[in-house]
Amino acid sequence: MQLFDSHAHLESHKFAHDRDQVVARAHSAGVTRVLSCGSDLPTGEAEVALAREYQGVFAAVGIHAHEAHTALHQAPGQKGGLELDERVWERLRQLAGLPGVVAIGEIGLDYHYDFSPREAQRLVLARQLALAGELDLPVVLHNREADQDLRRLVEAAPRPSRGVLHCFLADQEMADWALARGLYIGVAGPITFEKVRHLPDIVRRVPLDRLLVETDAPYLAPYPKRGQRNEPAFVRYVAERLAGILGLPLDELAQRTTENAYRLFGIS
Ligand SMILES: [Zn+2]
Ligand SMILES: [Zn+2]
Repeated sequence: MQLFDSHAHLESHKFAHDRDQVVARAHSAGVTRVLSCGSDLPTGEAEVALAREYQGVFAAVGIHAHEAHTALHQAPGQKGGLELDERVWERLRQLAGLPGVVAIGEIGLDYHYDFSPREAQRLVLARQLALAGELDLPVVLHNREADQDLRRLVEAAPRPSRGVLHCFLADQEMADWALARGLYIGVAGPITFEKVRHLPDIVRRVPLDRLLVETDAPYLAPYPKRGQRNEPAFVRYVAERLAGILGLPLDELAQRTTENAYRLFGIS
């Protein structure tokens, strides 16, 4: 059995002391592929280096909603508003062209934490959707309590986006919208939580060729590892739960979601 963890953050300092073992445990658990996502330029650079170092690890580079303020500066003049920092885009474009980089991510909107001003989040997302279109790369989208604006910006992108709504937690309407646009649905640890009751019904309606599994490690560990540091090997718990919900053998679920990730990220 082979699993593809379609979303992790292997560069995280939480893996600093045992990253080799974390990757080795993933391989032993059948998790032979991991997409590791940056959140800003330094973490993106680190992810690219990890993709070079570890067999089966691929990188996504992008500016997360939380870090949107790092990609902007105040325009000159008294009335100057927020402006995109061209040096950031130049570097991001360079990173996106390096070996092992298969997506722009993670990018998106987070109106729950609001770590960056919403206007900044929207500007930075719009620019990255355009960049992904220009480079013909898929996007890894983060969305928290920002359904309307995310949809509006994805629809306004100069070229239609290919990509995944990672750690999907939104409602049926959002899932329908994503599927109609050809996007994939990323299923993460919350599918294993008793309290997240609406998700099983939604994922049952997602065609099997549009589902991905992910950990978002080191965050969001699935049951029965909840509360611990998450790691790619634990994507197996997500896959087992998803297979149970869909009434499929784990092997088949693993194979289909792995094929989906290969197709979306252009990995052969
Ligand atoms: Zn996210
Ligand atoms: Zn993430």
